Amino acid sequence: MLLNVQKFIILLIAVLLSILYIVFMYYHLQQQDSKARVILKDLSNNLSETSYTLSKVITSKKNIIVARAILDRVVSNNDFIQSALIIDDAEVLLYTDPHYDKHVEKSLFNQESENFYAMLMDSPAIEGEIRFYEGGELNVLRLLFVLNHDEILNYFSEDRNTFLLYFGLYPILLLLIVLVVIRKYLSAPLEKLRQFAYYQNEVPRPFKLQELEAIRYSMVQTFQRLENEKKELYAMARTDSLSGLANRNSLNEYLERLIADSKRENKEFALLFLDLDHFKTVNDSLGHNIGDELLKNIALMIDEVIRSSDFVARIGGDEFVVVLHKYSSLLELTNIIERIQQQLSKELIIQTNPVHISSSIGIAFFPKDGDNIVSLMQHADIAMYEAKQKGRARYHFFTEELNKRVQETILLDKSMREALVNNEYQLFYQPKIDIKSGDIIGAEALIRWIDPKQGIIAPDLFIPLAEDNGFIIELGEWVVNEAVHQYSLWKMAGLKNFSVAINISTKQLLNIDFAHDFIAILEQNDLSSSDIDIEITEYMFLEQNQNNADILKVLHDNGVKISLDDFGTGYSSLSYLKKFPIDYLKIDKSFMDDYATQEGAIFIETIVKMGQTLNMKVIAEGVETHEQLQYLDSVGCDYYQGYYFSKPLSVEAFEKEFIRGLVNAV
Ligand code: C2E
Ligand code: CA
Ligand code: CA
Repeated sequence: MLLNVQKFIILLIAVLLSILYIVFMYYHLQQQDSKARVILKDLSNNLSETSYTLSKVITSKKNIIVARAILDRVVSNNDFIQSALIIDDAEVLLYTDPHYDKHVEKSLFNQESENFYAMLMDSPAIEGEIRFYEGGELNVLRLLFVLNHDEILNYFSEDRNTFLLYFGLYPILLLLIVLVVIRKYLSAPLEKLRQFAYYQNEVPRPFKLQELEAIRYSMVQTFQRLENEKKELYAMARTDSLSGLANRNSLNEYLERLIADSKRENKEFALLFLDLDHFKTVNDSLGHNIGDELLKNIALMIDEVIRSSDFVARIGGDEFVVVLHKYSSLLELTNIIERIQQQLSKELIIQTNPVHISSSIGIAFFPKDGDNIVSLMQHADIAMYEAKQKGRARYHFFTEELNKRVQETILLDKSMREALVNNEYQLFYQPKIDIKSGDIIGAEALIRWIDPKQGIIAPDLFIPLAEDNGFIIELGEWVVNEAVHQYSLWKMAGLKNFSVAINISTKQLLNIDFAHDFIAILEQNDLSSSDIDIEITEYMFLEQNQNNADILKVLHDNGVKISLDDFGTGYSSLSYLKKFPIDYLKIDKSFMDDYATQEGAIFIETIVKMGQTLNMKVIAEGVETHEQLQYLDSVGCDYYQGYYFSKPLSVEAFEKEFIRGLVNAV
């Protein structure tokens, strides 16, 4: 059994106290004995004095009564004497207390006791002799002092009480105080140290006792060191020692977390499997040192290109895995991938050797291509081999269909930009007609891409991508300039009461200078602000910000008319209509297609009424039949546009069909 400190100290104190008790008990007994001796001495003095006096006083046995007064005095003067007796042989002649009228035969004084105290306590009485002559004959009587043991005990017990107080109560009090102090300064700190040693959760505060404090301090230091070592080990187990990048363990941990997060948030991410092309050749021809050096450089370069939210690990010789999860489109993703490949293809000088290296990347998506680590890695690996097969230094998606789409997008992105340089864009114009009068009031400019090989490419095929990759800003500028240029030509030819509407994408309105630039262009070309209208779509409200509203307000205040395109398909609400300065509502073609159904009709009529209430003109789009037109007329719609009147036409065709008539009509 193990003793604890507290018990140990209690035991120690108990032993010490016992020794003290023994010492003091011995002393106490000594003290008691010497007191008993003094009392005995005093009593025997008293006895001999009294016997002497009585020897003088007593003259005959018959008048023994004379001794009575003397004995009474002696008894009353000494508390320890219970009574005094005078005895002749065994017969009591005189007594001071009637209890002792019995015969007292033998000596009552116990001389054999081992000490004075015992003698005092064991002897019922002490005795002396009274000698006197009666008629010349010597008489010897016995004088007995019967001891008052109650009184004697009383006397000694006073002493004992004091003794008990000093040697009983005080030590116990002292013991308690010592215990409290020990608990506070020793036991509790030790317990804290024990807990700290076990759990290391809470660092104990400095202790008062120097030794304990030294232990505590060294424990804290040691645990700190161990913790640091643990962290280092942890980091070492998760980093690739050559490149300093994360290793496979760390990648697995990261993917586990990312997969859980992505599942929960219903998100996708891309896993890139990157393998250097012909790394073995570099290793074999230039040596492993250079190979290692190259890998370090590659690791640094990848790390530089990717963003802080991306993750990169080296999982084998020349194999790296990059995980990308923050990208808004495939295009953005491929941009990052291309950046990585471009960076890696730069010439590196390693120990004076110029090294050219390229990389092949395979891409798999969570959850489309795999919803667990193993299948994602496998599929990205397969895609990487595909990239190698196709000639290396390229990337490949796991699915062929996606791969094709991405390649097409990238091609489109490239050729779309080249088309602007090569002047392959044209604006077509589709007339807008006043339903009541049948007059042409203007035209909508619609962009066309005339590709030398493919012919006319519809805007639906490239406008969404241009909006995605930002090219719409450049293209939009071209549209404004082109429309303004065309309009000023027509104006010079004498065209009046005619406006051209151009489509403006939401991205263009993000530029704060848009309104200012737009008005400046009109002024430079001597156009009035009512000559060119702009069409915006409801989707703008989705990304609405104060900027959009401000730009529209400036344009509107300057007299530019604003149409809300594709009305009814998006997120229009009355509050937007009131907040934004809208002049025209364009009913989307899909509603015109449904005009004959009850729902379609209700919708069209509602928009028309709403337009009238809000002081807006309503234009119906996509009118293809005479019936549709008649219906629009019947519900009071203002204008229309559609194949029924004319498809969008090239400038030449439009001029031939309409402008001449319009100019001549003026
Ligand atoms: P949008 O602004 O709603 O243009 C109306 C579309 O309906 C045009 O398609 C037009 O040719 C077509 N359309 C007009 N009447 C009829 C009809 O009776 N029947 C049918 N089936 N279609 C009709 P388009 O020219 O292919 O333009 C498509 C979209 O591309 C436009 O929709 C517009 O959002 C966008 N877009 C066109 N040009 C530009 C431009 O210069 N800048 C911007 N940002 N977007 C443009
Ligand atoms: Ca439009
Ligand atoms: Ca439209």
